[in-house]
Amino acid sequence: MKKLIVGNWKNNLSLKDSLVLAKNYAKVFRASSGAVVACPSTWALVSVKKILGVSVKLGAQDVGHQERGAHTGDIDAKSLAEIGCTYVIIGHSERRAQGESSAQINLKLKAILKEPKLTPIICIGESWSLYQAKKSKTFVTTQIKQTLAGLNLGTRQIIIAYEPIWAIGTGKAMVASEAQIMHAFIKTEAKKVLGAKTRLMVLYGGSVNGSNSQTYLKKTDIDGLLVGGASLKIQEFKKIANIR
Ligand code: PEP
Repeated sequence: MKKLIVGNWKNNLSLKDSLVLAKNYAKVFRASSGAVVACPSTWALVSVKKILGVSVKLGAQDVGHQERGAHTGDIDAKSLAEIGCTYVIIGHSERRAQGESSAQINLKLKAILKEPKLTPIICIGESWSLYQAKKSKTFVTTQIKQTLAGLNLGTRQIIIAYEPIWAIGTGKAMVASEAQIMHAFIKTEAKKVLGAKTRLMVLYGGSVNGSNSQTYLKKTDIDGLLVGGASLKIQEFKKIANIR
């Protein structure tokens, strides 16, 4: 399986800067055959899609759980598919911090799965205090059970991004050997909920950069990376994807 590298641009860039970065992604990753994903701000998705071409996939950073209709401010899964998204991040800790619950994330996940072209990237991960108290495994197990409840996946692929909250944007990455243990654990727990045959990938996220990325990518159960800050710097992101 090819390892997946996802760049989460968050809401960091202006439209002009989003288009410049999209041009650089298209140039650098033109031969990467779809293992790189760019997730710009929602309002930039359509313009960025035109520039990315076919080699870099487009991802959204969130979705509304309701279908197209009278839902002011929402964006629905069908529209994301129509404008060319193939991935949708949900449950990022920055959204959970604003009050988004696992039950809401579960509804978003079900909305995404109604669209055949969309693959969800569901973020989970523990806080520093839970990590210190050695409660990471218990906590992510609860998140897995709550966010993945009641799905009928069939052959659909599902992606979990394991992002310890304390590692996001802090420069304090989890060491790769420890991340490998968590990833193997997450796969086991997710398959208990979803079934052993589920097409599941688990990505690591949290202060990944050009110097530490390969330590994660070498690990058996780390199927790729979700990158925030370093995805905004093309030279750094190029190193992360190991493109010379
Ligand atoms: C993220 O926000 O998903 C993330 C992993 O951020 P960073 O790479 O900046 O830690």
